[in-house]
Amino acid sequence: MDKRTFLKLCSTAVATRFLPLHLGRSPAAKLTNWAGNIEYSTDKQFFPKSLDEIQEFVKTRSSVKTLGTRHCFNQIADSTNEFLSLSAMDRVVLLDPKARTVTVESGMTYGELCLYLDREGWALHNLASLPHISIAGACSTATHGSGETNGNLATAVSGLEMVNAAGDTMSLSRLQDGDLFPGVVVGLGALGVVTKVTLDVQPRFMMKQYVYENLPMDELRNHFDTIQSSAYSVSLFTDWQKKRLNEVWLKIRLPENSKFDAPPDFFGAKRATRNLHPIVDLSAENCTEQLGIPGPWYERLPHFRMGFTPSAGRELQSEYFVPRKNAVDAILAVENLRDQVGPHLLISEIRTIAADDLWMSPCYQQPSVAIHFTWKPEWPEVKRLLPLIERELAPFRVRPHWGKLFTVSPADLHSRYQRLQEFVEVCQKFDPRGKFRNPFLTTNIFA
Ligand SMILES: Cc1cc2nc3c(=O)[nH]c(=O)nc-3n(C[C@H](O)[C@H](O)[C@H](O)COP(=O)(O)OP(=O)(O)OC[C@H]3O[C@@H](n4cnc5c(N)ncnc54)[C@H](O)[C@@H]3O)c2cc1C
Repeated sequence: MDKRTFLKLCSTAVATRFLPLHLGRSPAAKLTNWAGNIEYSTDKQFFPKSLDEIQEFVKTRSSVKTLGTRHCFNQIADSTNEFLSLSAMDRVVLLDPKARTVTVESGMTYGELCLYLDREGWALHNLASLPHISIAGACSTATHGSGETNGNLATAVSGLEMVNAAGDTMSLSRLQDGDLFPGVVVGLGALGVVTKVTLDVQPRFMMKQYVYENLPMDELRNHFDTIQSSAYSVSLFTDWQKKRLNEVWLKIRLPENSKFDAPPDFFGAKRATRNLHPIVDLSAENCTEQLGIPGPWYERLPHFRMGFTPSAGRELQSEYFVPRKNAVDAILAVENLRDQVGPHLLISEIRTIAADDLWMSPCYQQPSVAIHFTWKPEWPEVKRLLPLIERELAPFRVRPHWGKLFTVSPADLHSRYQRLQEFVEVCQKFDPRGKFRNPFLTTNIFA
């Protein structure tokens, strides 16, 4: 199906208000992930309302998988037995202005937390493209936004409460468990059930968002560093065609009473005069406000608005991280595949992320650039393309996003994550019998 026909078909769905999947399911429908490309191996879910209920559940089961908001595109969250869903445990536990932290129950979504924090005068350092995801699920897979100096969302985690395989509650913190803590924050769901998360906060701030159209690829090649550091968060969208980036999204953090306005031209790209969706043919109704209109941090950092369908809705996603110093070479290597990629792609996004010290983060000890692909829901074709992209990016020791589709081999994953073996050892301590494992983890981490 050509791109225009496909987009026409999905635009009606995208332009409507977001309906949580479980509300739209008929009784016979199987439980799926958000995108619908993964049908989970069980429909059974248990919704605990207290820590006691979680402990009892974990103690009495031989296999446990915790489900967040089901936004991963691969089988990382799958279970054949029964899911533990913490969606009913979504309250703020403590806002500590002195320590500049907030502690929440881990079923809470970023969208819910942002509203609370902003009301209280606080903010998070960054957000992903969408606020709909659970805090625990996002941090478990090293979900990220963009920005030269911004680490992924898990870098804001300063404390965790977890239930381990024995059903015991453990409290871990950045301050008190210095050596171990960076090994558990991006836990891939393999260490236990995260029941509470403590996050760093900072005073609320205002932002403006500007979108530019048609940045020549040559300008990006010659000025990548300047372009990426020109705003607090920069996202480049491309379909890899016509030697240009289709859209540049600049998210600018405003000092008090700032009169800042962006120029009409940015490295040859022209400032848009209407709000745009990253996929230009889709309605921008679902997107956060652009055109330089000031707004609070949580209404500018994500691309998509809470309460509306994010992205295209019917899609697959893959994303690859390479060292920031190889950004231009990696981007040009993918551009070489434009003829193969083009027919199956909705849009690509290029973002930068600061280095961190979290063992299982794709940005572990390396400032990174992430090259993302939003695909049409055509898995057989996408499955054939991923190895081509991974081969082009192999010289840069590419690491895939844990929550998206990839075909990188377990052996390559092991060789590209320096601390993976230590992570396995920590998993064995927390969970000696593999209660929290599933086939995805067994293949990619424990094989
Ligand atoms: C439209 C769309 C846009 C996206 N945009 C971005 C983006 O901008 N940046 C980015 O990096 N990613 C992005 N993603 C990917 C997404 O952020 C990740 O897949 C994230 O993990 C989703 O969180 P979730 O709660 O839905 O996780 P789930 O898919 O429900 O679970 C993910 C993992 O976390 C584990 N887990 C969940 N809760 C717990 C818990 N309480 N305790 C222990 N383990 C737990 C699960 O077992 C599983 O292993 C996007 C996804 C979609 C669908």
